[in-house]
Amino acid sequence: MKITDIRTYLMQVGPRPGLPGQTSAGAAGEADFRGSRNWLFVKVETDEGIYGIGECSGWPRVVEAAVKDYRAILIGEDPRDIDRIWSRMFVSSMGHGTLGTVGGGALTGIEMALWDIKGKALNQPIWNLLGGRFRDRIKVYGHAKTPDRARELLERGYQGVKVGFTGAVDLDKVASIRDTIGADVDLMVDAHGPSWMTTKDAILVGRALEPLDLLFLEDPVAPENLDALERIRDAIDVPLAAGERVSNIWGIRQYIERDLVDVIQPDTGRAGGITQTRKMAAMAEAHYITVAPHSGSLGPIAEFAALHVMATIPNALMLERVEFDWSGRYEVVTPVLKVEDGHLPVPDAPGLGVELVEEEIEKYPSNRNVGDMPADDGRAYEPGTLTECVYFQTRLRRRARLRLAKSSQ
Ligand SMILES: [Mg+2]
Repeated sequence: MKITDIRTYLMQVGPRPGLPGQTSAGAAGEADFRGSRNWLFVKVETDEGIYGIGECSGWPRVVEAAVKDYRAILIGEDPRDIDRIWSRMFVSSMGHGTLGTVGGGALTGIEMALWDIKGKALNQPIWNLLGGRFRDRIKVYGHAKTPDRARELLERGYQGVKVGFTGAVDLDKVASIRDTIGADVDLMVDAHGPSWMTTKDAILVGRALEPLDLLFLEDPVAPENLDALERIRDAIDVPLAAGERVSNIWGIRQYIERDLVDVIQPDTGRAGGITQTRKMAAMAEAHYITVAPHSGSLGPIAEFAALHVMATIPNALMLERVEFDWSGRYEVVTPVLKVEDGHLPVPDAPGLGVELVEEEIEKYPSNRNVGDMPADDGRAYEPGTLTECVYFQTRLRRRARLRLAKSSQ
């Protein structure tokens, strides 16, 4: 079998429906990513008529150029030699630097498509080529910014809820969501790896969160700040999670080797591929660390990859999922997965078990792939605006945060 062509499908992704009464910008600008979401899918074709599909995250509009660049070394390769092809791609682009998540996204989508080809050629779901299943359904968690949205998730069967913040962590809001969901539902907080939280402030916030029995606190400081993570880990009794921004085993290794986190969160669109994600999971397993793949702005194909991987690893914790997403998410692939009883089913069809609906993807041509922080009426970086504290730890914001932390102790 030989690879004959690689095609890319880049699309603009619409806004997530906001909460009732929200503007299109959404709360803290997170509801629609301010027009910045793109999805990139790839299709690897072969001379035997079998093709595979994959998804690349990590700045999709830029990743598309990387995928097209790899095309030259992929044509004529036997797609069944997945690990060797991956290494060839990786080595061929080392001269560009450590590749980051853009390179990681390109490697991921192509490698995913090769697994899809192998599965289809052998008439087996990918999980059955990876050692078989621990489980045939995967627990998922959703996002809530309000108690009402948390209640909606519970009504849809979810048993895990994450509260995300940009700027100060609102401890009273976390407490009100805990009250709403009760003690038995998993609760997480994502601080989004801010550079606006000093390490000491993150420790104060973490201590204030201790009574709320979190499953994990995610990215309490900028995830590149490994020494800060170590200080936080040693100072608070809340499990920590990180890892959505790194690619490949070399990107995750220090989080694991230094036992900085209790949960790693590889993004299955840019972690490096199915094999890389499983290797990360094995490294984590040796440290008694669990795996909860990131989803966030990912599209629906990478979700299938996550399900196959999570079916086959002992330390799968939960999968992140955007339950209330843009309606186009459910039009560009088939089949569409539905959460039942808080879980997604592990696909049983050969390969990934999902197909692109190309005529739907074509309806949404990409026009922009960078976001912007909400500018609070255009007054970006001025005192009192949200962006003021994105990159600068201002005294004003810090005092407010400390008050909150004290009031909930
Ligand atoms: Mg996150």
